[in-house]
Amino acid sequence: MKKENILILKGTIIFTPDSAGFEVRQDSYLVVHNGIISEIYKQLPAEYAGCRIIDHGNRLIIPGFVDLHTHAAQFNQRGLGLDLELLDWLNEYTFKEEAKFTDTGYAAQVYEAFTEELIRQGTTRAVLFATIHKDSSNLLCDILSRRGLGAYVGKVNMDVNCPDFLREDTQQSLRDTEEFFERWSSTSLVNPIITPRFAPTSTGELLAGLGKLAVKYNAPVQSHLSENPGEVKWVAELFPDQSDYHQVYNHYGLFGQTPTLMAHCIYLTQEAIECIKSNQVVTVHCPDSNINLASGIMPVRKLLNAAVQVGLGSDVGAGHSLSMTQAMVKAIQLSKINYVFDHQCDPLTLSEVFYMATKGGGKFFGRVGSFEKGYSFDALVIEDNTEMAQKASPVERLQRYIYALDASNIVARYIAGQEIQSRI
Ligand SMILES: [Zn+2]
Repeated sequence: MKKENILILKGTIIFTPDSAGFEVRQDSYLVVHNGIISEIYKQLPAEYAGCRIIDHGNRLIIPGFVDLHTHAAQFNQRGLGLDLELLDWLNEYTFKEEAKFTDTGYAAQVYEAFTEELIRQGTTRAVLFATIHKDSSNLLCDILSRRGLGAYVGKVNMDVNCPDFLREDTQQSLRDTEEFFERWSSTSLVNPIITPRFAPTSTGELLAGLGKLAVKYNAPVQSHLSENPGEVKWVAELFPDQSDYHQVYNHYGLFGQTPTLMAHCIYLTQEAIECIKSNQVVTVHCPDSNINLASGIMPVRKLLNAAVQVGLGSDVGAGHSLSMTQAMVKAIQLSKINYVFDHQCDPLTLSEVFYMATKGGGKFFGRVGSFEKGYSFDALVIEDNTEMAQKASPVERLQRYIYALDASNIVARYIAGQEIQSRI
């Protein structure tokens, strides 16, 4: 191994090999070969003599955050319309905002600012919705690639039950999606994902076509599931042949036939939970969004007990922040409110939500989100630099960072071994 391909960071290293607890390696050396984690050492072996070591002293070194569900095109509508519930919020705010992305000049401005904020907040991998517009979706991929982020990007598909200015012709929608896939399928860090907005804005013909594309490109899929009671009722009316909301996706090969993310998953029948589990669909908890639109509380403990995978998402713009530390805090807080009403459901722990925001969500990208051997080196260096840092344990310092500090405490960011600069 050439010395220039080796990166060594020294500091207090914390990660979650599983959700039950933290692995802490104080004053240790994290050795990275060609962007991949090789080993963590207390004493650096002689073979590394002469390699460049970045000594972070007492700083915390943690995996970068993984945001499994957010809408890049809704970045400018954060904090707007949040007295509404889902369907009114879509009609009165979101669709009007997304229509602006027909203008690539506007898209460039929003997507640059969005990407900068992702980096600033310490998100190293994200799964994104763009809009129906192919050109601005390409632009988002270009910007993410240039900045070095890891992402799945969805060109959104909608061909019914939406305003004329966002309604796609079904066959054109499928052709645009295929072109988008042809362009981005073989790139390394930014890849395409099949993205029907949700069942109500999709005809069966569109969903069938997307299911075929998912098979053809062995492509992952993302959408929304059972977020709001009005939405669930509407899906039952629109798809009377399907016994349950999730069966609409399942029927068309968009529910675990290839790796699949489903955001929200609040109102699930037992049959739906069993199908999610057997199809290995990954559910995404978006606490801010669920609170803001008064959608409900995802039954996270029940899903974990059923061995369902759960990740975390910021879901901007229904969520008002891209901060994954705040998503972790809100997930714990919601689970505690839920516990007050149902003592069968224990609150989530810090290590459980940290796992969701790192290794748990990172699985969607491969070996991402941990510091075990063979994982991609995606990392944040956290400077807390207070008296407490001298007195508190590493896990207490991490907890304090997650709850009470913010993005300004991140002093370095790495994605796949490359240092990424925030411009702020
Ligand atoms: Zn969403």
